[in-house]
Amino acid sequence: MMRDYEERSLKGKTPHCLFKIGGFQRFTLIDYPGKVSCIVFTQGCNFRCPYCYNVELVLPEYFGKTIPQEEILSFLEQRVGKLEGVVITGGEPTIHAGLKDFIEKVKKPSFSVKLDTNGSMPEVIEELIKDKLVDYIAMDIKAPPDKYEEVVRAKVDIKAINRSINLIMNSGVDYEFRTTVVKNQLSKDDILKIAEWIKEAKRYYLQKFLPGKTLDPDFSNKTTYSDEEFAEILSFIKDNFSECALR
Ligand code: SF4
Repeated sequence: MMRDYEERSLKGKTPHCLFKIGGFQRFTLIDYPGKVSCIVFTQGCNFRCPYCYNVELVLPEYFGKTIPQEEILSFLEQRVGKLEGVVITGGEPTIHAGLKDFIEKVKKPSFSVKLDTNGSMPEVIEELIKDKLVDYIAMDIKAPPDKYEEVVRAKVDIKAINRSINLIMNSGVDYEFRTTVVKNQLSKDDILKIAEWIKEAKRYYLQKFLPGKTLDPDFSNKTTYSDEEFAEILSFIKDNFSECALR
């Protein structure tokens, strides 16, 4: 079976088919800051974060039926003036060669687009920024550079991650960085290292890992830091950012 991220090599051939949508949520008030939105979930990811909740969107053996993009575009046509934004999340949206083509169609009736990304494809992010196709970017910072591969359980080009960080910070597009914190994966020192790495970013959020169904079943009951411990961490890092908080 062809992997989604392998499809990028086919870019330009039949991009219409190369954007696999594995899920769709018609309404959200919390996933796009300040905008009433819907969420498109792409299928497939090039990382294997053990704490990931989106098993059906990441592991090919659990993939469900894909949703034709026409279905979503026709839903959006009927929501002009009611919905403001479309959140594109995953999986990892940037591994799909048809991403740009899909966003162009979404933006025609003038919806704002928020992209959630793991930052592994800076060239895709760069093109979307250059063509003014994204209005908000949320990038996960998974770990300090030296622990990245261990935390996401995949081969990672740290230069690519770094390039995405710099592109986003200098893009003029609204953005946030965020880190999901599982206590046994990230020490307090690791979080301080991340905060130093992305220093002067506009927004940085720490996200509490919550127990649930995870990619690695051994992670389903892992814990995160206590509110008091997070408060202490935030007190050390908050001055690095315009906005920094716990979610
Ligand atoms: S949490 Fe990790 S594995 Fe899950 S979708 Fe995001 S990058 Fe992929």
